[in-house]
Order: sequence, then structure tokens, then C-alpha cells
Amino acid sequence: MEKRKASEIMQVEFICPKCGKHLAWAVRTASMSCPGCGKWVTDKNRKQTPADALMPIDSDQLVLF
Ligand SMILES: [Zn+2]
Repeated sequence: MEKRKASEIMQVEFICPKCGKHLAWAVRTASMSCPGCGKWVTDKNRKQTPADALMPIDSDQLVLF
């Protein structure tokens, strides 16, 4: 439970998938509309960054190592 909570408060970079504009750093549950093109951006469709790929999606996996 505590591990899951930690991942929930971890912020991710929200980048518009349509125009590539950086919007904000926010928790994964956040959603926002792009001021540039009006695209609604959520954790589901936000543009992924290289840094994202290096971050563990599920922190529970770290327990194994
Ligand atoms: Zn946009």
C-alpha cells in the first residue's frame, strides 16, 4: 500500500501528443487541456519522454532486486 501511494504522488511530465508542447509536471491522475491546440491531455495519451522510459512504472518491481 505504501509503495503504491508513493507512485501515485510521483509527478510525470505532461506533453501534448498533438503539438508537443510542454504543459506541466503533475501526478499521473491529473488531466489538462493544451493551451496551444486545445487537446485534452491525460496520463493515457500524453507524449512519452526518454526520461519516462527510465523510470520504473511499477515500483513494486524494485522489491525483487
Ligand atoms: Zn497541443
